[in-house]
Amino acid sequence: MPFSSLGLSPSLQRAVSAKAYVAPTPVQLEAIPAILQGRDVLGSAQTGSGKTAAFALPLLQQLEQAPPESLRRVRALILVPTRELCTQVGEEFRNLAAHLPRALKVSIVFGGVSINPQMMRLRGGSDIVVATPGRLLDLVQHNALSLADVKALVLDEADRLLDLGFSEELKRILTLLPVQRQNLFFSATFPPAVQALAQTLLRDPVRVEVVPAPQSAPDILQRAIAVDTGRRTQLLRHLMAQNHWSRVLVFVATKHAAEMVADKLRKARINAEPFHGELSQGKRTQVLADFKASRLKVVIATDVAARGLDIAQLPVVVNFDLPRSAVDYTHRIGRTGRAGERGVAVSFVSADTEGHFRLIVKRQGLSLVLEQIEGFEPLQTAPVATLATDGSLIDPSNGGVKGKRPSKKDKLRAAADRSQ
Ligand code: AMP
Repeated sequence: MPFSSLGLSPSLQRAVSAKAYVAPTPVQLEAIPAILQGRDVLGSAQTGSGKTAAFALPLLQQLEQAPPESLRRVRALILVPTRELCTQVGEEFRNLAAHLPRALKVSIVFGGVSINPQMMRLRGGSDIVVATPGRLLDLVQHNALSLADVKALVLDEADRLLDLGFSEELKRILTLLPVQRQNLFFSATFPPAVQALAQTLLRDPVRVEVVPAPQSAPDILQRAIAVDTGRRTQLLRHLMAQNHWSRVLVFVATKHAAEMVADKLRKARINAEPFHGELSQGKRTQVLADFKASRLKVVIATDVAARGLDIAQLPVVVNFDLPRSAVDYTHRIGRTGRAGERGVAVSFVSADTEGHFRLIVKRQGLSLVLEQIEGFEPLQTAPVATLATDGSLIDPSNGGVKGKRPSKKDKLRAAADRSQ
């Protein structure tokens, strides 16, 4: 079905063509008509599904059709969990608003940078505000903006908003909004806290569910490679050369690891930069811009920093360190193979993380073969389980967490290992 059948105005259809969006994505097909009708929406959709345009296009249309006297009063408020997502969503609004007959002002506000320039930019009002919750409240307190005219509220990545501890800020923001408004709620997952929030917020919502999560999307090739911990950087270099990977997003567990791997790659004359929460906002923006413009070949990121990253045509994601959970695995590999592009997601698995890997694979319902690459066959073997003083089994593959009570065989094996 083409975009023209969704009831969008000619100027918005022009913007969609300018972005080279040929056909609406499933979430757009369902959400756009419902939002245009003024309905609340409960969307179960991941970043990468085209959900930003799914709410941006109909909201822009409502603003386009609003009376001129409402101009520059904040009528659409979009709350997002991270600065990066804030910028991405704001830019998408700006691009899609580019051909409207009356220019709309989109303000992007997030914490971690000086508030004054943001206050200056908000002078004279704004039509659309895309914000992280904490900074939005600061700006309201400084009288830099009013939320009294908001007609539509969007919670984007609601699960992440709660994960990052924004629930108090959200509650306070809700008290500042008019009761009569349209609410659009998007989340990738629906744990109880997210469901409860959706229930208090939404009135008779239209449910929009986009089922294909990255793990079932046919355009992401998932691979797992067995390798010794100490040889992962070499293997990464080998895979990059062998597969002619042009740009790679590498995930690691800590800021320190991000710095270290970037360092090693740079020593091998590969353009690489770390990307983690301790870098200044300026540096993060620069790294992203360089990566997007292909001036950087590899970005080594931690999970928090990479949340909501949207880099078009990212061919490869590498789990240098495995993610902590199956949910993080989904988020990580969702950085590639976006909006119909092909992607590859490779996980490095060493002897001591194999147990954890099996758990992720099981939770994801995947059947991945643990490959070996010639010249990188692992020499390390899985560390053996030991017994705790209370007789329970300490499983080293899950970080030394006590597990099931050992069988007789387990006890004998552990005793034999201790006596070696
Ligand atoms: P999102 O889920 O909003 O983060 O969007 C993911 C990516 O898909 C972004 O790079 C969008 O520019 C792109 N996109 C959104 N809608 C479409 C569409 N209908 N066709 C092709 N790409 C799209």
